[in-house]
Amino acid sequence: MRPLIVIGNWKMNGNLASNQDWVKTVARGMESGMPAGRKFAVCPSFPYLSQCSTLIKEYSLAFLRLGAQDVSAHGAGAYTGEVGASMLKEMGCKYVIVGHSERRQMHQEADESVAAKALQVLDSGMTPVICVGETADERNSGRAEEIVCSQVAKQVSVLQDRLADCLIAYEPVWAIGTGKVASAQVAQDMHRAIRLQLAEFDEDVASHVGILYGGSVKPDNAVELFAMPDIDGGLVGGASLNPQDFLAICQA
Ligand code: PEP
Repeated sequence: MRPLIVIGNWKMNGNLASNQDWVKTVARGMESGMPAGRKFAVCPSFPYLSQCSTLIKEYSLAFLRLGAQDVSAHGAGAYTGEVGASMLKEMGCKYVIVGHSERRQMHQEADESVAAKALQVLDSGMTPVICVGETADERNSGRAEEIVCSQVAKQVSVLQDRLADCLIAYEPVWAIGTGKVASAQVAQDMHRAIRLQLAEFDEDVASHVGILYGGSVKPDNAVELFAMPDIDGGLVGGASLNPQDFLAICQA
């Protein structure tokens, strides 16, 4: 049985005061317990990892884990401005997002570099959240499944068995930050296709890998999405900035 996982991606948002309020509100909301068999995490910007790690401990938020939004494809060395996986581990991260479409589009990240980042994350004992997804043009031209499965296949070719320790996030680019959520059936169909693609490599790996949906997840659509058999939770951007909405999605 795969656990349901909800991960909040704050992107380049937040500040010391608002982060504190967020953790305090989520701590209050989680006080009375959370549904069993679920995992929750939040991914602040790099400068706030230390603050959020301390706050999570301070509020004894055992339910909430910490994650990062990106990582270097290299271990250590002369890579000015980059952040290594071992540093994220030291800051208390459990999850690291790799290959988010904003990084693929704005920083020209290719599948090879996404896989190299995932390996760094695995080698440091954390879980990579590998993002895949098609653009609106790719979907409109009937190539959505082909594009997404080819992105997954490239990860399989590098990560092989280690994929069992990864999460995949299907995030249709046209649904990210647009309010245009994929219908639960459209998302389920793609999650199924991803699982079948993984099963071509190894059926056991395919049945264990959590596949999250991301793209305009909100409290009012999360229940239907998460009820789908191949949707194992969500990667939530905008709605995760509001602690009440994040809590509502975690309860969904
Ligand atoms: C994301 O950035 O990963 C995301 C899913 O954003 P949003 O929920 O705002 O669409």
